[in-house]
Amino acid sequence: AKEAGRNRFSWFDPDMARALHARHELETALRAAIPAGQIVPHFEQQMDLNTGQLLGFEVLARWNHPLHGQISPDRFIPIAEQTGMIADLSQTLMRQAFLAARDWDPALTISINVSAVQLRDAWLPQKIIKLLLETGFPAHRLEIEITERALFENLALAQSIIGSLKNQGISVALDDFGTGYSSLGHLRAMPFDRIKIERSFVQVIAEDQDSAALVGAVASVGASLNLPVTAEGIEDLATEARMRALGCARGQGYLYGRPADAANTRRLLAERRLL
Ligand code: C2E
Ligand code: CA
Ligand code: CA
Repeated sequence: AKEAGRNRFSWFDPDMARALHARHELETALRAAIPAGQIVPHFEQQMDLNTGQLLGFEVLARWNHPLHGQISPDRFIPIAEQTGMIADLSQTLMRQAFLAARDWDPALTISINVSAVQLRDAWLPQKIIKLLLETGFPAHRLEIEITERALFENLALAQSIIGSLKNQGISVALDDFGTGYSSLGHLRAMPFDRIKIERSFVQVIAEDQDSAALVGAVASVGASLNLPVTAEGIEDLATEARMRALGCARGQGYLYGRPADAANTRRLLAERRLL
């Protein structure tokens, strides 16, 4: 009887009510945060694993909340996706990233994540082109990262969006490879410029035979399709060496530094004479 009572009134669960309230508060705050400029880009270095050269940066969203400090994208990106705010959020992030990066060494690229929700919008390529024109950032220095999962929600539309981006000179990377269901056929049908291996595989290759085999397989798939492979989440030199040995041409991760805001990234580039 007690169980039944609990179930019947489970929607009155105070923990659940608190969670719903917290989520609602976060959503309301996010709605205000986007126009207030609290969502800012941080930049994570992407390296050539063979030469040690800095090639560019991945743009990662950060929410600088006036009371709660920095909020992780894992907490607010899903809310932005579910509420349709992701388009505006992405727009403000891209604009800031393009404005910051257009003054850097012109050889440096930036990679930006685009979510599944955005891939449902046939106008996405035009929106990105418009931002590039407005900010004066060249298309050939931009790469869009699309996750495997996002791709398969609507294969045909995704394919046409990727085609338009590529026609404009924008590169497209397949992100979080290994977590979804891509087949070789899919990979061949989509004109990707690179594959990125999800960090959970990269970080356990030393201990876990299966991950090592998977990373090796992805690297050889990349090689056979002529696609360079980027390893995410490299935290130490041993992992870097292993990924290099497996044929990954590029890498990123905390080994090279934490993602930094535009001002600190500028400082870093000035020190390396890359402005
Ligand atoms: P992701 O695209 O896989 O981005 C890489 C994540 O790994 C970032 O987390 C980065 O800070 C973290 N990372 C990088 N190197 C290391 C490392 O060596 N060790 C560890 N432990 N972590 C590392 P972050 O910034 O928290 O972003 C989480 C996810 O949120 C991203 O995963 C991406 O899926 C999403 N995200 C971030 N910014 C955006 C955005 O602007 N738009 C969209 N749609 N998604 C975004
Ligand atoms: Ca990414
Ligand atoms: Ca990842």
